[in-house]
Amino acid sequence: AEGVDEVRVATIASRPERRIVAIGSGKGGVGKSTLTANLAVALAREGHKVGVVDADIYGPSQPRLLDNEGERPVAENDKLVPVESRWGVPVLSIGHLVEPGRAIAWRGPMAGRALGQLIDANWGDTELLLVDLPPGTGDVQITMLQRFRPAGAVIVSTPQDLALIDATRAMQMFEAGQIPVLGLVENMAGYLCPHCGEASDPFGSGGAEAQALSREIPFLGRIPLAPAIREASDAGTPPAAGEGGQGEAFREIARRLAA
Ligand code: ADP
Repeated sequence: AEGVDEVRVATIASRPERRIVAIGSGKGGVGKSTLTANLAVALAREGHKVGVVDADIYGPSQPRLLDNEGERPVAENDKLVPVESRWGVPVLSIGHLVEPGRAIAWRGPMAGRALGQLIDANWGDTELLLVDLPPGTGDVQITMLQRFRPAGAVIVSTPQDLALIDATRAMQMFEAGQIPVLGLVENMAGYLCPHCGEASDPFGSGGAEAQALSREIPFLGRIPLAPAIREASDAGTPPAAGEGGQGEAFREIARRLAA
């Protein structure tokens, strides 16, 4: 098995033109998958060749977010072929490897092998792979940073203190592995009530930007807590694909990331 892994590393190392960017978070439910899907769609709109690897073994959600849930990848010459989506973003998800709705209870080595199959797939001319990691600092994340050496990582957090403390741990993990943290994104920042129009901060405000400043990490931007984002996401129509509205916040972050 060791030999197979070495071959994989060699294959990936032979394609330095394909950048891998990991999207991580300290906690679940902070919007890491939503951000990944929307960054991919926003970058594809700008003409980048971008693919998404969904490595979130606890809740693979890219097939739903990018609306290709029913599809199954095929294998060609022992490599998976990513599944196209109508947003111009090919996807491979850990959810594609198991029956829909089945819980995934894998030990580290198995999850690591699954991640290898997704990353070392037949990505064709894809230049940038965004990898939606599981939350926290577990086996999959460590495999990711040790074996696949992403070019960088983006960390997502809510403004809430607790989420920020966990986000700091995720940042430390990448820094310890000498993977540059490309920036911090604050999600669920500010709530604009659709009924009365009042703006409020359910999870506090400004914490992520202060944290980024103090760690000398770029602050990539904030996305408001908006029911429209959840509704569009559940419907498989990423806000970043539409004109104006909430999509602009995602597109701005994508532009900063690509700059
Ligand atoms: P994670 O990948 O960090 O677990 P998700 O991206 O799956 O988080 O988001 C968790 C839930 O919150 C989903 O139902 C998603 O639609 C919703 N959500 C994420 N970001 C926002 C936002 N800015 N406004 C409203 N709902 C959001």
